[in-house]
Amino acid sequence: MACKLCGSSDKAMANSHIIPRSFYELLGEDWQASRVLENRPDTYPKRSPIGIYDPGILCVGCEATFSIWDDYGYRFLIKNPGLKPITGPMGIIFGQNLGQCDPDKLLMFFLSILWRAHYSTQGMFDWVKLGPYANRIKELIEAGGGASADTRYAVALARFDADPGEVGMLCPDRTAYDGVNHYRLYLGNYMAVVKVSNQPGPEVLQKVYVRAESPVYVVNRDLRSSKEFVLMKKILSQPGNDKVLSKLMD
Ligand SMILES: [Zn+2]
Repeated sequence: MACKLCGSSDKAMANSHIIPRSFYELLGEDWQASRVLENRPDTYPKRSPIGIYDPGILCVGCEATFSIWDDYGYRFLIKNPGLKPITGPMGIIFGQNLGQCDPDKLLMFFLSILWRAHYSTQGMFDWVKLGPYANRIKELIEAGGGASADTRYAVALARFDADPGEVGMLCPDRTAYDGVNHYRLYLGNYMAVVKVSNQPGPEVLQKVYVRAESPVYVVNRDLRSSKEFVLMKKILSQPGNDKVLSKLMD
């Protein structure tokens, strides 16, 4: 098995978590140690005590390259001490202000997840197919960053107003906004919309892409009215999954 980063086939391979293990741990025990919901009604949630990993992507040495971005993403999104709710009339919380970020590290966090997902043979990541961008993102990984200076990449964030354990973990997928290619990544209670395209993103997204000169604002999404929730209900309503369903429906 050859490492997809250094190309060596005689090194010990690492059990690479494509989505960092710290995000699976957020799902909590109620999810019976990390259920992964494949966004396909005909498949069962997978159970895996430490989350989904793939031993066919990176050697042990190259795996360590990713920890700087994995750690940053977890700290900024989940352990962010500066997080402030944005309230509107009647005290309704309609978003979160995460404060200033390091835009390059944050973007590299998402792109490096997509890059690992591209090479993973785990079914959960079947919809991540980067094509020629796999090599371009590899160059950024080898260079230790540089994504935020490249107009082909951008990220916007949304957040479900629910605990990560309620949201579960949906498969990343690909979608087009105004014809421009984006991937959606679900991490904890966040949804990241990542642009991977030569074309500029649609105007509405350009306003919310993470950028250096502004704090990161995250819009709250109502989990129960989201299409993701409808999908989760469909998956979880299969035999044996009713216990989780009843928790979700509380
Ligand atoms: Zn390697």
